Amino acid sequence: MKSYSDLRQSYTDNAIFNEVGSIISRYEHESYNSYITTNFEDALVQAKESDTRIANGTARALEGMIIGVKDNISTKGIKTTAASKILENFTPVYDATVVQRLKDAGGIIIGKANLDEFAMGSSNETSYFGPVKNPYDIERVPGGSSGGSAAAVAAKFCHTSLGSDTGGSVRQPAAFTNTYGFKPTYGRISRYGLFAFASSLDHIGTFSTTLEDAALLYDVISGNDPMDATASSETNPSLVEALKTSPTSMVIGELPDAILKDCDSEILERYQEYKQRFIDLGATFKTVTIPHDNAWIPTYYILTSAEASSNLSRYDGVRFGLRSELTNDVIDYVTASRTEGFGKEVKRRIMLGTYVLSSGYYDAYYKKAQQARRIILNSYKEIFSTVDAVFLPTTATPPFKIGEKTNDPISMYLSDYFTASSPLAGNPSISFPAGFTKSGLPIGLQLQTSHFREDLLFQLCAKIR
Ligand code: GLN
Repeated sequence: MKSYSDLRQSYTDNAIFNEVGSIISRYEHESYNSYITTNFEDALVQAKESDTRIANGTARALEGMIIGVKDNISTKGIKTTAASKILENFTPVYDATVVQRLKDAGGIIIGKANLDEFAMGSSNETSYFGPVKNPYDIERVPGGSSGGSAAAVAAKFCHTSLGSDTGGSVRQPAAFTNTYGFKPTYGRISRYGLFAFASSLDHIGTFSTTLEDAALLYDVISGNDPMDATASSETNPSLVEALKTSPTSMVIGELPDAILKDCDSEILERYQEYKQRFIDLGATFKTVTIPHDNAWIPTYYILTSAEASSNLSRYDGVRFGLRSELTNDVIDYVTASRTEGFGKEVKRRIMLGTYVLSSGYYDAYYKKAQQARRIILNSYKEIFSTVDAVFLPTTATPPFKIGEKTNDPISMYLSDYFTASSPLAGNPSISFPAGFTKSGLPIGLQLQTSHFREDLLFQLCAKIR
């Protein structure tokens, strides 16, 4: 399967219809459990229409792009579960803004991608519908929480996919599957129709096999939206256009050795190679510090759990989702619905979040974490007044084995080490494929720029990919 940009360049008759057909037959053979719900029949109909439009010259911006959508993004008439038992049979009556924009531009939704339950996880193992297998090694995880979106692109079950990134859930799985994972500035892409996990950190992002596809997709789905009060109205330069020019300045920030040294040695080697490549192209490097690196993860987990405990209170068994049969009284009923409906990790987050928000602990945890978040944001702002971008690994390790970390939540949480600070600050970041370890496991490296500088992010990434 070609990337979408290549396919469109050398289009032959009925290419889209044939592509969907080939996906369907390959998917039946080995799915990696990447989609919770497939939309194959509809996709075939859409593909026919796209082929006709391409042939008669009425193609729209994304005509025939085959897209997987993470199953925490609302799709009208297609089941959307957030990989939770509590929403097992939930079919939304409206499309998320991103979905509406994709459809209007001729994108074809082929399936709803598997994820960690309510996007809480780093391995896709907390899904009620079972883990996703990494197409590069089926004994390993594809990362999470957007594991299905990543695996689907890697396995060529779609050209591109949508994911969500609250602490790394687009970039970390991209690094684990040899794909591009892009999370723009907070507010660039409307969250209307994204099932809220931690609203002040939730970002919709994209997976693709090329930077060009990511740019095309971004140009269509980004931009202000009256349905999301936090959507930004800043001018939004086209990334397709941005890719036509080179960056004018390349001062790159890198984290101190002390922080990088804990990385897997093969990832570190690859990082150094790319750094050298940057230097050969004329870049200069500067060491930058985002202070309190040991506080990034606790800050992230305190704030996201606090927000999640509030956001998830809407799943009460009354308005939608699972309804318990136990109906002694209303309190019992809500408790029973939530006890049966939520998985272990989601319950852990709700309990943690409720705890850090409770009186007596609020100041010690929630307020402290808010202050730490402000320090992280301010230091990012300071850093970007002296460098154009920060260059760092996406993950400290290659993809790990399914089951390896399930009994050790802390070690699972630490896999967000290099990704959690960017959603806390809200600046754009991208993980790009940077080859493989000796045993054939994907490696991803990460670039970050200042708020609203996606154009520079893409130009720098294009330079060294
Ligand atoms: N792994 C992180 C978590 O478990 C990130 C999840 C995400 O970005 N949605 O919360």
